Amino acid sequence: MDKTNSSSEKVDAVVIGAGVVGLAVARSLALAGREVWVLEAAGAVGTGVSARNSEVIHAGIYYPAGSLKARLCVQGRHQLYAYLAARGIAHQRCGKLLVACTPAQTDTLHATQAKALANGVDDLQWLSRAQAQALEPELACHGALLSPSTGIVDSHALMLSLQADLENAGGQVVLNTPVDTVELGAGSDKRHLVRTHDGTLLAARTVVNAAGLSAPMLARRFGGLAPALVPTPYYAKGSYFTLAARAPFRHLVYPVPEAAGLGVHLTLDLGSQAKFGPDVEWVDGPGHLTVDPARAASFYTAVRQYWPGLPDGALLPGYAGIRPKISGPGAPAADFCIQGPLDHGVAGLVNLFGMESPGLTSALAIGDWVAEMLRA
Ligand SMILES: Cc1cc2nc3c(=O)[nH]c(=O)nc-3n(C[C@H](O)[C@H](O)[C@H](O)COP(=O)(O)OP(=O)(O)OC[C@H]3O[C@@H](n4cnc5c(N)ncnc54)[C@H](O)[C@@H]3O)c2cc1C
Repeated sequence: MDKTNSSSEKVDAVVIGAGVVGLAVARSLALAGREVWVLEAAGAVGTGVSARNSEVIHAGIYYPAGSLKARLCVQGRHQLYAYLAARGIAHQRCGKLLVACTPAQTDTLHATQAKALANGVDDLQWLSRAQAQALEPELACHGALLSPSTGIVDSHALMLSLQADLENAGGQVVLNTPVDTVELGAGSDKRHLVRTHDGTLLAARTVVNAAGLSAPMLARRFGGLAPALVPTPYYAKGSYFTLAARAPFRHLVYPVPEAAGLGVHLTLDLGSQAKFGPDVEWVDGPGHLTVDPARAASFYTAVRQYWPGLPDGALLPGYAGIRPKISGPGAPAADFCIQGPLDHGVAGLVNLFGMESPGLTSALAIGDWVAEMLRA
């Protein structure tokens, strides 16, 4: 953007961050007739958390009933499958097996099925060991839940399509444009003054903070927002290891979930390449993206619980992503925290905190949710 220190340019709505959530929000606002600029710090869309995930379309199984995660995941999944089909974006409804590796875990899976039902996920099917092994002969388990509506998606193609929708509706993405501060309500007509790193000043009626891992730190720099409303960020790194050979599985395979993640699971990409992860490692900031090859040892142990045939030496370090958490180690996973005017009292401002999984699956529903919050 051009440097215009002295005066501000008027824009209707500014979305900060061009990850899958920011792009979906911007698209929904633009389709509702708003003029939208997405300001993105990086030189391309979708290089943050949105580039470092499992690309799984979640069914909505695990989340507490009535939570935003449960509602937006189930609604978002329906919207997403329809959108992917309409736009011809690569995806596969491959299904997943949630496996009990011990008899005790069978009870946990029963509880999981009840939770899923409360969320409106009513298509889970119980499989005996023999039925599961008929689907996946290499699988070791005491029983499994089959989730037929779980799938995988080309998330980058999805983001490019959201960007195209935004641009067709008159909006734009402005790259290489980090936002430094926002002075809330400080402009004429109580517009919010958005200052970018090069000194450009935009006067916007609406500001949406969709800055992913940086969202809480950025919100702390918003003049006029009570600091107590901004949650403390925590960072849970998840490393992936890829399988050197072709995987003998056609479904995604998940163990019983852990406290901070879903357990070291097997996912497939659209080329049938298998990867395992993400594990959970609490780190002190968003920059820790290197995969430590030494973590492979714990992956072999975890994966062999459900795939004893995993050969020695088959796992190669892949990539890592950081979960944008707002609950720390040992605490129950927090819900999505989407704060609008009714929460903080600032007209035209929405902050999105803790947009961890299932944020990709939920993105279209989050977009509509935020647009609704901002309807004047
Ligand atoms: C390991 C892992 C696995 C996951 N797996 C799944 C999955 O299988 N399925 C699923 O549904 N979800 C999954 N998720 C969650 C999903 O990836 C996220 O919910 C989603 O990508 C978040 O998107 P976002 O747009 O909020 O954040 P991001 O993609 O991080 O986008 C934020 C953007 O803001 C930009 N930005 C930051 N600060 C500024 C600033 N000051 N000014 C301008 N721009 C700024 C960044 O550059 C970035 O591009 C996973 C997450 C992780 C970490």
